[in-house]
Amino acid sequence: MGKGLRALAAALLAATGLAACSDGAGGERTPKIGVILPDSATSNRWEQADRKFLKEAFDAAGVQSDIQNAQGDKSQFQTIADQMITNGATVLMIVNLDSGTGRAVLRNARAKGVATIDYDRLTLDGGAQYYVSFDNVGVGRLMGQGLIRCLTDMGTTRPVVATLNGSETDNNSTLFKAGYDGELQKKYDTREYVKGPDQWVPDWVNAQAGTMFEQMMTETGGKIDGVLAANDGLANAVIQVLRRQGLNGKVPVTGQDADVEGLQNILSGDQCMTVYKDIKQEASAAADLAIALARGETRPAPATVRDTVSGREVPSVLLQPRAIYRDNVDDVVTAGYVTAEELCTGN
Ligand code: BGC
Repeated sequence: MGKGLRALAAALLAATGLAACSDGAGGERTPKIGVILPDSATSNRWEQADRKFLKEAFDAAGVQSDIQNAQGDKSQFQTIADQMITNGATVLMIVNLDSGTGRAVLRNARAKGVATIDYDRLTLDGGAQYYVSFDNVGVGRLMGQGLIRCLTDMGTTRPVVATLNGSETDNNSTLFKAGYDGELQKKYDTREYVKGPDQWVPDWVNAQAGTMFEQMMTETGGKIDGVLAANDGLANAVIQVLRRQGLNGKVPVTGQDADVEGLQNILSGDQCMTVYKDIKQEASAAADLAIALARGETRPAPATVRDTVSGREVPSVLLQPRAIYRDNVDDVVTAGYVTAEELCTGN
C-alpha cells in the first residue's frame, strides 16, 4: 500500500474506532495504548510511580502510549477517554474515579472495538477484559494487624479506634475495609478494643480527612487511641492534627502506599505502619496484558475477581502487598521504590 493510501486507510479506521493499520509487510497492527490515571492529589503513587513504570514498560516493548491524568474531574475523565479513542487507541486502561463514570467510559470503548483493562480499581459492572491490582482485602488485613501490633506495643488498655476509610465510590476502599474490619472486629467482640467513629473520606481528599478527624476528636472528647487511616495521605492529615495537639507518636496511625511522606512519618515515630505495594510489578503486568490485547491476542489470567454488581468473574492479576514498620523501611529502599536520599530530604 502506498504512503498516501495508508494514511487514508488509517484515518478511516480511526474514524470507525478500529485504529489498527496494516504496515503492508506482515499485517502487523500498530498498537496505541491509552491510560487514564485518576488524580495526583490523593496519593503520590499515580504520577510518581504508576505513570513512570507504565511508560517504561510500553517504551521497552516499543509500543505507543498516551498516559493522562483526569485530576479528579469526572467529566474530564470522559473527555480524555473520548479523545484517546478518536486518536486511535486500541486499548484503554483506566483507574476509575467511580464505577458510574468508569462504566460509561468502558462501555463506549467496547462499542468502538477498543479493548479495556481496569487498572488498580475494579469498575463494578464495567465489563473490562482484565483487572490488574493487589489482593486488596489482604492490604486491609495488613493494616488491621498493623494497628493491633502498634497498640499492643504501646500497651494501651481498651483502646478506642477511629477509622477513616477511603472514598466510598472506590471499590478498593470497600475491600480494604473488609480486610481491616475483619481483624479489628475480633478485638471489639472480645471487648479488648472499643469501636470509635468510622467514616468514609469523600474522594480520598486529604484536607477533608483532617477536618473529619478534628471533629472525631471533639466528639469523643479527645478519647481516640488508634487510627485506622486507609492510605498515607489520609494518615498524614491525621498526624498533622495530632501534632497540633501534641499527641503525635502517642496515637498509632496506619497508612498505605509507602510513599516518601508516609515512610518519613514512620521513621519519626508518628505513623505506625504502611503497606508497600510493588507498583512496578503492577504496571508491568498491566502493560503486558495491554500489549497482548493491542496485538489482538489474549492471555490466560492467573486469578478471577467477582464483580459484586454484575456477578461476573473478571480475569485478574492480583499481586501481594507487604507491611512496612519502622524496622523494615529499608525493604522499600532495597526494592528501589524510594531512595535513601528522598527519605532524608523529602525530595
Ligand atoms: C489505591 C491506593 C491509593 C488510593 C487513593 C486506591 O484505589 O489502591 O493505592 O492510595 O486509591 O488514590
